Amino acid sequence: MAWHDVIQGGPALPALLGAELEPYPYISGYGLLRRMTQLGRLMGVELTALGIRNRVASDALIATQRPGAPKAGLLHALALRATRVGDYWSPEVWSPLRTGRMLEHHNLPLRDCSFCAAHGYHCALFQLPFIDRCPWHAAKLHTGCPQCGRTCWARFHPDLRLGRCECGYDAFEVRTASTNMWHFPAAEVDAWASRYLDWVAEERKSRLFVVPSPHTDWMPGYAALARQSLELEGMLVTAQPTAELEEFSDVGEDPPEGEFWGWSLLGGERPMTFVPLPATMHVKLTQATWDAVTAFPADTPTPFEFATLNGLDEGQTLQQNLVSRPEYLIAPHGFSSDQRTWLNLSAVDPTAAYFCGELLDRVISSLEVRDDGCSRSLQAARSHALDGIAGRRHVARALEAILVRAYTQGLETVLRSMMAAGNASKCQRWSLPTAEIVIANDVIRSVRVCWTPTRSAPSRRTVDTPASISPAMKTKTGSEASATRQRIRKRPTRRAGKMRQKK
Ligand SMILES: [Zn+2]
Ligand SMILES: [Zn+2]
Repeated sequence: MAWHDVIQGGPALPALLGAELEPYPYISGYGLLRRMTQLGRLMGVELTALGIRNRVASDALIATQRPGAPKAGLLHALALRATRVGDYWSPEVWSPLRTGRMLEHHNLPLRDCSFCAAHGYHCALFQLPFIDRCPWHAAKLHTGCPQCGRTCWARFHPDLRLGRCECGYDAFEVRTASTNMWHFPAAEVDAWASRYLDWVAEERKSRLFVVPSPHTDWMPGYAALARQSLELEGMLVTAQPTAELEEFSDVGEDPPEGEFWGWSLLGGERPMTFVPLPATMHVKLTQATWDAVTAFPADTPTPFEFATLNGLDEGQTLQQNLVSRPEYLIAPHGFSSDQRTWLNLSAVDPTAAYFCGELLDRVISSLEVRDDGCSRSLQAARSHALDGIAGRRHVARALEAILVRAYTQGLETVLRSMMAAGNASKCQRWSLPTAEIVIANDVIRSVRVCWTPTRSAPSRRTVDTPASISPAMKTKTGSEASATRQRIRKRPTRRAGKMRQKK
């Protein structure tokens, strides 16, 4: 779609000074407001009429990039409701990954191109973290004030202008933005953006982004996954950020029915202590225990609390206790009759464990798995739905990788917190998972998991594997009963409601 078509249905003359559209293809709501507040020197009452009520607290990007009264008010005041101008104010439209509108709800500093800002121009595309340069000026986008270095937010200056820093710096140039507005490279922007939007629309059909929802630190993971696009290479993107990517897309057979039973317990409405996982997980978790323990010096003593809770020999070092039998913490009950291994979730990073459940739910909801009308528990419904999905092996491999990593860093935290009393988390590097699911023709083609460094570990929890616990191994209902023995923080249950509606 060309800009000419987007503005179809709008007024022949701009409703207000600064609201000119033709020279500024795909200008954001913030860009329009910046031009109007700068050129028209609007008063408070005029801004109210434009839908902007609270000038002190308002972030003009947030107000205009997501649906709501301010955005609707602005479109109405500018007589643009019949046009598609407002569709391009959300960064979501410019994203090659579908984020479930998370991008437009995320408050980010303003990202600006100095050449565009002289016109007051800003495009929602600039807010995407994988875009480093203005596509038409090739200038680096900046989030800090060029004069004082402060982070710029899309907030009003006390004189009610947008785009002016507290220190007084202002990239806006009245002559450039008015008399010389046609010097803006409108034709190039229109051609570039139309081509880009076509490509993005195609990508979005198959690419879904999943984040651990209570976390707000997912933006680096999103950026790293979105960068994985040939189309973007060499075009806009500069240096790669610190991120570890794993792709699961092997040719092979999908796992047999029931494989997801244990996985379906993760992140559910009732938090679990033990989950029964496929037997293949045993060796991976054993290795993870070994990795977590050998990360400490060989002469590290076994923390008293840890030894007591787990029935370990306090007189021996941690490595003596666990290197020879690293399965000790994972499967205190051995294998069950159907060859599943039991994982004690209390040592697992709860964010990542919950994320496994979110990944499953995203797969199920995006494929609209047909329901057979049977009434099932949340876990059983998840497990049943996954059994019918082609390409589910990629999901299974991704879950294994996420959980192993979650267990490794969770166990390390538990050990550090018992050893270093207080300053444990400072020594540990902590990573947050995000993921991309690629779906085409109702088949999962691949799952990409991204780990990015994050600030903090979740709150400390205790490893408790008292030998007296004996979860029922034989039946699925029995394993659910073991959930009553748990110490895991209560999780919100909103997902449960969503799943029930599907039945
Ligand atoms: Zn520019
Ligand atoms: Zn400044």
